[in-house]
Amino acid sequence: MKLITNRVYGAEDILPADSYKWQFIEDIMRKQAQSYGFKEIRTPVFEHTELFDRSVGDTTDIVQKEMYTFTTKGGDTISLKPEGTAGAARAMLEHGIYNDGYPIKAYYLTACYRYEKKNYGRQREFHQFGMEVYGAASAFADAEVICAANSIFDRLGVQNIHLELNSIGCPSCRPKYTAALKEYFGMHRVELCDTCRSRLERNPMRILDCKSPICSQIAQNAPKVLDFLCEDCNTHFEEVKSCLDAAKLRYRVNPAIVRGLDYYTRTVFEFVANDIGTICGGGRYDGLIEELGGQHTPSLGFGMGMERLLLLLKEQKIDIPEPPVCDLYVLGIGEKAKLKAFNIIEGVRSASLIAEGDIVGRSVKAQMKYADKIKARFSMVIGDSELEQNCAKLRNMNGGKETVVPLDEGFFNAFFSAYVEESNSSLLEQLNSMKS
Ligand code: ATP
Ligand code: MG
Repeated sequence: MKLITNRVYGAEDILPADSYKWQFIEDIMRKQAQSYGFKEIRTPVFEHTELFDRSVGDTTDIVQKEMYTFTTKGGDTISLKPEGTAGAARAMLEHGIYNDGYPIKAYYLTACYRYEKKNYGRQREFHQFGMEVYGAASAFADAEVICAANSIFDRLGVQNIHLELNSIGCPSCRPKYTAALKEYFGMHRVELCDTCRSRLERNPMRILDCKSPICSQIAQNAPKVLDFLCEDCNTHFEEVKSCLDAAKLRYRVNPAIVRGLDYYTRTVFEFVANDIGTICGGGRYDGLIEELGGQHTPSLGFGMGMERLLLLLKEQKIDIPEPPVCDLYVLGIGEKAKLKAFNIIEGVRSASLIAEGDIVGRSVKAQMKYADKIKARFSMVIGDSELEQNCAKLRNMNGGKETVVPLDEGFFNAFFSAYVEESNSSLLEQLNSMKS
């Protein structure tokens, strides 16, 4: 087959046979978000580029190399969102949501776009689940957000994922740290990659996040941010740790974590899985809302990569429950019977059960095979004689038991009682197999 084109490099399709895995994870995320008091926010897939320049930071890899930026026919410079925080913050401000009082807690599920080299767990279009809290300065907010992310891993039954924690200070202590980094990396100027050499003046902390082997080796002996924290940042960091201890959430303090976005202050964290790397990254961004033109609003959040999470579940062989199968397949033989079948199918669907019939013109035999293939729980054949007698045989496909059911209004009662009986006995079977 010669198609006119294929999907764009770095983008993936999520096919009908796999989408239930996404839905299962998304359901857990929505439920967890809800139980922490978060409501969903949906923002456009594109924003004015300056939003990301100012928030994500124009010295970051994301803005410098990875953003999909284009000029519209109207002459605006627009970028596809590379992450979810900036758009959510912009929307919160633009609609004055803060007038409702703080804290504001919002979560999102969104596609993100970064022009990166495709790799295991790395795509150009990928998806993030994220949570954001605006207007909360207390360490309990940090702990709440971290616990919320962790609760998703817990609910999914993920193992061997560890929390790495750091504090990268605030505008009052960071300049001293930046000066120390400038001095240290200045001594290694010639060895640094070109990008890091340009970062040296503008944002030396970014060098700590460089993926080139030489820069990261040099970074290993760089001054450690925790030695430079001011008293307030130190106290805040200690409080965050106490809250996490109280929640019995284990963490490792890792001073190498700085995150790849400029808006972070104080707490930064990552949930890291051995073979896959960072699944979730986040932290506090107390200066971002002001940077975007709002009032000073201590805020924080995280982004969790959906594709990496799915890879992790696959690697850890974590079962994702399969979607429900067809409850009833109805075969109609002959024009009149087909219409009757269609009428019954629609009736069953209106009771929120799953019903199917032939829509492609299969033979009776092929339809039987199809009903088997889709693992229908019940099937029923309606032909001329069934129409005449106004009843048909309802067949339980697990075991073959047949019940005669009326084809008039009495059908639904008869079907539902057979359905309930089957559900109960398969539940009993499941319980018995769990016991043994
Ligand atoms: P990395 O260091 O792996 O590039 P990052 O620091 O750029 O990650 P963040 O911007 O913090 O990542 O995004 C949060 C999460 O989103 C990541 O931990 C990851 O799970 C996911 N993510 C980021 N970039 C990609 C991508 N290109 N493809 C798939 N998932 C991604
Ligand atoms: Mg990245």
